Amino acid sequence: MHPLNFEQPTPELLVIKWQNGTTSTLSTATLRQHCPCTNCRSNTHLRPATGPSLISASMTTIRQMVLIGSRQLQIIWEDGHQWGLYPWELLRSLAEPAENQ
Ligand SMILES: [Zn+2]
Repeated sequence: MHPLNFEQPTPELLVIKWQNGTTSTLSTATLRQHCPCTNCRSNTHLRPATGPSLISASMTTIRQMVLIGSRQLQIIWEDGHQWGLYPWELLRSLAEPAENQ
């Protein structure tokens, strides 16, 4: 299943519409906390268990999104961090499914 489009209704939210008509809503803070790049995965202060208070606004503001092939989304953050490639499976697992879409 592939995404049809990405929307940001507010700077803090990313809404993904999937091929099958479902919608996933993710907060950018969640996305940043789960950044799959090697650097973040070894960087304990970004782990969700420590809470969002250590994350600054520029870290959770999306500057640009780039499709990498047909399987991943690269997110470039306002603080310049750009090494996270989010596969669709990860985006779906992080999202809270919307019931009425
Ligand atoms: Zn990262």
